[in-house]
Amino acid sequence: MSRERGKDVAEGSSENQQQPATPSRYESQKRRDWNTFGQYLKNQRPPVPLSQCNSSHVLEFLRYLDQFGKTKVHLQGCMFYGQPEPPAPCTCPLRQAWGSLDALIGRLRAAYEENGGTPETNPFANASIRVYLREVRDYQAKGKRDPTQEEKEAADFEQKE
Ligand SMILES: [Zn+2]
Repeated sequence: MSRERGKDVAEGSSENQQQPATPSRYESQKRRDWNTFGQYLKNQRPPVPLSQCNSSHVLEFLRYLDQFGKTKVHLQGCMFYGQPEPPAPCTCPLRQAWGSLDALIGRLRAAYEENGGTPETNPFANASIRVYLREVRDYQAKGKRDPTQEEKEAADFEQKE
């Protein structure tokens, strides 16, 4: 998926509301995300059955996804810290944009219940996930990542399978 400057790509959930004409895109993305997560659980040693999946597995999954991230988040010691468009490369890590993670959690949360999970046990609805996402958002806001990177992020989950 190569978009140039689509604005709301990272926010999959709101995008879905704004464009009722293309609900299938949200649905297929949700299915892909759900499969990716299922695969992730299967690859754990030992594999984690969905019935035993809890919020710490979800948090580990989110951290695991960072290795596929494309959003530069400057660390506090970086000379470009606070600059949205650094004039030169630096060694700060690439991360998943928080907006992408937030939209991903929204899709997985829905998928979990569509696949037989109950709202009471939904690990994606756990308060610790919201806390984690808030921390990521604040951290990335301080590092002033380039917002246009978000668009590339949205494709991450599709490409890495
Ligand atoms: Zn940097």
